[in-house]
Amino acid sequence: MSLKRDDSGRLHIDTPLMAESLMDRGLLAQTGSGEVFRPLPDLQVLKLGGQSVIDRGAAVVLPILEEISAARPAHKILVMTGGGTRSRHAYAIALDLGMPTGVLAKLGAGISQQNALMIAMLLAPSGGVQIAHDDLVKLPGYLALGAIPVMEAMPPYSLWEKPDRVGRIPPHRTDVGTLLTAEVMGAGRVILVKDEQGLFTADPKKDPEAAFIAEIEVNELIARDLDDLAVERTMLDALANARSVSEVLIVNGRERGALTAALNGENPGSRIYREPGG
Ligand code: ADP
Ligand code: MG
Repeated sequence: MSLKRDDSGRLHIDTPLMAESLMDRGLLAQTGSGEVFRPLPDLQVLKLGGQSVIDRGAAVVLPILEEISAARPAHKILVMTGGGTRSRHAYAIALDLGMPTGVLAKLGAGISQQNALMIAMLLAPSGGVQIAHDDLVKLPGYLALGAIPVMEAMPPYSLWEKPDRVGRIPPHRTDVGTLLTAEVMGAGRVILVKDEQGLFTADPKKDPEAAFIAEIEVNELIARDLDDLAVERTMLDALANARSVSEVLIVNGRERGALTAALNGENPGSRIYREPGG
């Protein structure tokens, strides 16, 4: 991009984006050239599942928080929180009352925020601080202080959430919210703490024959079009198009040490990855 001066002496920005609808495919492809800047490439972004972890209460949550506190000196960690059963309750009532998707998204965000408050309080002795979306740009400061920032994982589509092709449940919930947060901060990986070993070919709670998937490329997983998944489909699409995040690990929060192993770069559960440059 360069500046050029017209005959009257005024400066103009010489860019191919000028006077364009920003819809031309060739022009859009040009905007992808060059590396994306990664503010915090060594940030570890992890989400504590709402239904799968937080709703299980102290017996499951407290040992996980111990692992996070113990890992903090060696790792820069951002903790994010899902919604869980209370979100599902709110969705059920809102659906019954005929509410549109955007209202459900706003209700879900409130529950995810409630969980962030409780997790931040529990982590307070080790530096837990609840942060809001606009505080993300202050992360380097919080991390330099040795804090453990905790943020709600529901992305702020809010009333503007896009209706999905089927049904009225908001398609962008806390798995994709976590991935998009990691992506904008330039992190390389996301850890989702849930309540099963990882990803299976079907829900292991319903199908005892479900086969475990230790590792799978994201486009292959999308193409498999499984009937049920441990992660949101929108998260898979976001991972497939990500520029910084290259892998999502699903770990079992009920297994002691699994989260610590994941923070140390191992795969104790399932790994969904994006081909380098893909
Ligand atoms: P969270 O509270 O972390 O968002 P969810 O309850 O939304 O977690 O999703 C995790 C659950 O998804 C697991 O506990 C499991 O029972 C279920 N599930 C459905 N399909 C699958 C699958 N293909 N592989 C693994 N788990 C699955
Ligand atoms: Mg979920």
